[in-house]
Amino acid sequence: MPGTKWVFITGGVLSGLGKGLVSASVGKFLQTRGYSTVPIKCDGYLNVDPGTMNPIEHGEVFVLDDGGEVDMDFGHYERFLGIKSKFDWNLTSGKIFQSVIEKERSGEYLGKTVQMIPHVTDEIRSRLENVANEEDADVVLIEIGGTVGDMENMIFLEAARQMQSDLPDEDTCLVHVTLIPWLDAVGEQKTKPTQHSVKELEALGLEANIIVGRAENELEEKTKDKISLFCDVPKDHVISNPDVEEVYKIPLNLKEDGMDSIISDELNLKDGSADMEKWKRLVENLENPRETVDIAICGKYTKLEDSYVSIREALKHCSAHLNCKVKQRFIETTDLEEDVGKVLGSPDGVIIPGGFGKRGAEGKIEIAKYCRENKIPILGLCYGLQLMVTEFARNKCNLEEANSTEIDEETLHPIIDLIPEQKNVDAKGGTMRLGGGITKIEKDSMAKDIYGKKEVKERFRHRYEVNPEYHEKLEDEGLRLSGVSKNEENIVQVVEIKDHPFYFATQFHPEFTSTFEDPSPVFMDFVKSCLNR
Ligand code: GLN
Repeated sequence: MPGTKWVFITGGVLSGLGKGLVSASVGKFLQTRGYSTVPIKCDGYLNVDPGTMNPIEHGEVFVLDDGGEVDMDFGHYERFLGIKSKFDWNLTSGKIFQSVIEKERSGEYLGKTVQMIPHVTDEIRSRLENVANEEDADVVLIEIGGTVGDMENMIFLEAARQMQSDLPDEDTCLVHVTLIPWLDAVGEQKTKPTQHSVKELEALGLEANIIVGRAENELEEKTKDKISLFCDVPKDHVISNPDVEEVYKIPLNLKEDGMDSIISDELNLKDGSADMEKWKRLVENLENPRETVDIAICGKYTKLEDSYVSIREALKHCSAHLNCKVKQRFIETTDLEEDVGKVLGSPDGVIIPGGFGKRGAEGKIEIAKYCRENKIPILGLCYGLQLMVTEFARNKCNLEEANSTEIDEETLHPIIDLIPEQKNVDAKGGTMRLGGGITKIEKDSMAKDIYGKKEVKERFRHRYEVNPEYHEKLEDEGLRLSGVSKNEENIVQVVEIKDHPFYFATQFHPEFTSTFEDPSPVFMDFVKSCLNR
């Protein structure tokens, strides 16, 4: 789109420096200045999308309203910007190559030798431009995954190079996020790795306009002087990004060090500055909690905390709005041999998150029973709902052998079973029941109190459901099925019980729609119940 500005965010030295958070922070500045801002993420891997990747390897799979399964960074973008992203905003090498090869097979390049440059890079550029056009974007933020120099990200960097060289200077800006380690032996912040990674960028024909230095502490003056001199950027274009306890502090730190105005100078935007006042107040709440609650998250991907990042963040949103500290404790449910009460300790609340497969499931079922019987607030999400219902069927409906067919295909009482449309699906990529769907909420229910609406839209990612043959039996024993699907055959989407401080589970994932400024009502109510304990 003519007039669109492009900001590239690249990484140097090592991955995991929080480029996504820098991108989200810059997006927040631009958004509060009134610019329509669209975040894009480029991932070098050959998977078409991350939906088929194990969360322990790659972190959480984030699900969008349109059903796209995308990189975890979209979680940060949405939590910071409160926007609804689209599947097309996540480019992967897998997606790009798939369409180039499809075009080649259908004869679109007839006569030509199909090459990385220009065909693959053109494919990337045309997708970027399409997004800018469709969204009428003033600014597009393009985060390029991994580290400069990785083979798999080269095509994205080359596309960025072409754009940097084709477009007027003030229409592009490259932000390079790099590590500035502290060397104890000499008591100094070391800039050499950054110098090398900027050289690497230059060798690819790219020019860094702003350098964001991730370091334990703020960058010292002499560190900034050195980077400025050796990396050929003005000193005020070297921005500190020190370690923080809460990621929501990052935009405040970056702004404090001048990032907002430097970006705006680089892109030749109107005068003014980002309005971060509301944000700042929420961060102050986070940093000065009045009370503490202890919440146990019971799952099987506890080895990598990023597996549950949206849940963790949704709880932080509640902290900021309820002015309390939420202590998050992970409980691994695989081989839960000890007495459940002992393993759990005495949490103020328990979350059973989403998941797949047999491992750890019995442990979650035991925990659900313990919380139901001992009146500990419990929130079940997706698989969490399914296992809570399984527990209820076993112990309250006298169906001792009740199980999910995901765990035991031959079970006598398939209380949780495949959704009929899923029965003939074999392919694994993008084939679950995915994305935003409407739930009809029952009158006089906890769900109605929580949402205050008759219908809500939340996001799904599952293949199994509460088996309709058992709905009546469950309700007879006191499990309220208080939310069902609107557009499909009666899929149970919310369950709850009375006479319990908080026993509530959703087939959807409310954590995906929680944002820092507008937290999920389900999580808010859950944390309030935990605070009341
Ligand atoms: N494994 C369950 C299903 O496919 C739950 C999925 C999830 O928790 N996201 O229905």
